Amino acid sequence: MAQKLTRENAEKILRNVDNFLFDCDGVLWDGNGPIKGSLETVMRLKELGKRVFHVTNNSLHTREHFVKKCANYGYQVKQDEILCTAWIAAEYLRSKSFKDKVYVMGLKESMGEELNAFGIKNTGAGSDPLVGTSYGDWLEGVKLDPEVKCVLVGFDPHISYMKLMRATSYLKKPDCLFIATNTDNLLPVKNTDISIPDAGCMVSALTVASGREPIVMGKPAPNMFEVLREVHNLDPSRCMMVGDRLDTDIMFAKNCGMQSLLVLSGISSVDDVEQAPNTSEAVDSRPDFYAENLAELGKFIVG
Ligand code: PLP
Ligand code: CA
Repeated sequence: MAQKLTRENAEKILRNVDNFLFDCDGVLWDGNGPIKGSLETVMRLKELGKRVFHVTNNSLHTREHFVKKCANYGYQVKQDEILCTAWIAAEYLRSKSFKDKVYVMGLKESMGEELNAFGIKNTGAGSDPLVGTSYGDWLEGVKLDPEVKCVLVGFDPHISYMKLMRATSYLKKPDCLFIATNTDNLLPVKNTDISIPDAGCMVSALTVASGREPIVMGKPAPNMFEVLREVHNLDPSRCMMVGDRLDTDIMFAKNCGMQSLLVLSGISSVDDVEQAPNTSEAVDSRPDFYAENLAELGKFIVG
């Protein structure tokens, strides 16, 4: 049963948690800029000796970009304290000693850059407009690169039929890896009638066409936590994940054995918490605690 954050609960959290992992959008900031009171809470936690990390599913940017964005909002974060999905995908391939070429359905500025930084050969990022008007033209337009042994798909605003043809063709080979940065359905935008499809839509197009399921890097999969755990020697039972989405952040906490706090300053609402599926441990996305926003935690720990 999810408990509303109270002073008593906050004190319990402080006793039981050494490491806080923060989701970014919806917790620290949103489309309008920083969320009021979040920075003060994070700074207070650091003063209390808590270690602080950041984990975002956003595949639009590099890790370096997020370090700078955090700094712009007042968060002093080292590179190894923030994880994002373009980086974790490249890190995953590095950890597997991947030596071939990656076909990227995503952005050059994020996924391409992170692969380049590890010296991993890649192709495909950026635009790939339709060639001609018939099957014949399209088939003619798709020349496959024999070096490609991995398809990496993430948020791709340049998604096109040519790209889907190429990626699906590479995935026909059973030894071609299939990796997705994340499977979020929509970007977390508010105050607009426009929906912005996220990487999950591009991933779904490829799963349908190829009949294969990808290895997913982002939350709720545990990859980003595994790297943090190894580098910073974290004990998951002494970690708390703070997020705004049940299906990514809170499931991530469950999958990694962490405690969880849902803040209502982003996507999921208190009604979602009440209706969260909990038919089995595998689908239990109820948080341990929930609060209006991160400022509430700060308010209860001022001393
Ligand atoms: N994916 C994209 C492309 C985004 O722009 C965002 C947030 O801005 C997200 C995912 C969600 O990020 P987070 O995990 O920080 O909430
Ligand atoms: Ca979020």
